[in-house]
Amino acid sequence: MKDSSMKRIIFLFLASLSLVNTSFAEDNKPHHWTYGEVKEWGEVPEFETCKLGKEQSPINIIKKDVKKSDLPAIETNYESSKAEIVNNGHTIQINLAAGGSAQLRNDEYKLVQFHFHTPSEEKINGKNYPMVAHLVHKNADGHLAVIALLIKEGKENAALKNVFANLPAEEGKSDLANEINVTDLLPASLKYYGFNGSLTTPPCSEGVAWHVVEKPIELSKAQISAFKKIFKSNARPVQPLNGRVIEESN
Ligand SMILES: [Zn+2]
Repeated sequence: MKDSSMKRIIFLFLASLSLVNTSFAEDNKPHHWTYGEVKEWGEVPEFETCKLGKEQSPINIIKKDVKKSDLPAIETNYESSKAEIVNNGHTIQINLAAGGSAQLRNDEYKLVQFHFHTPSEEKINGKNYPMVAHLVHKNADGHLAVIALLIKEGKENAALKNVFANLPAEEGKSDLANEINVTDLLPASLKYYGFNGSLTTPPCSEGVAWHVVEKPIELSKAQISAFKKIFKSNARPVQPLNGRVIEESN
């Protein structure tokens, strides 16, 4: 038997064991998953959208196929907020107590948290950036919208100085000493690529409105290295478009 099929069988066996476990669990704890098993996410029943979904994220954005459109501009009303910094085993996430809101696709969305991936999950013309920040928003109906800020190596990012100086190496959370205003992270232009997609982590739920901002922001080499020391790679591979058209805002 090939090593890879053996691994698959072991994985399915372990997955079925953990299923049995959860049926008795009362805390409704989500399944454990890893980036090492990214191709098997969809084999776990409650993650099947990862395999069966037709509008999955992330994607490769091919500029010549992007359609110019009149997608509404992103308007942000972010506010300074207390924050906690969490290492959840998959990324570093900054939870905002009251981060303000953004007007996205003519609807108001509250900014809930932001987190990072390395390399960037989104590709532009087949290329990754060293990192990406995902700003996760939720509207009154519980729908999600994400603004992706691509990150290139450059100047030290002053707005994230405290975050990157205090990245928790182990799973757990702590309060950030300073308040944070996500406005300070944004590039000068918020022109974006818009499309429908999904969460890029299990359960890969769809119906997420994506906004990939064209102009990247910067982190210093030291800041990028500090993240990579904790998460060497935490990016889902790009997914098929399945006929989706990527639009570009004005
Ligand atoms: Zn993300």
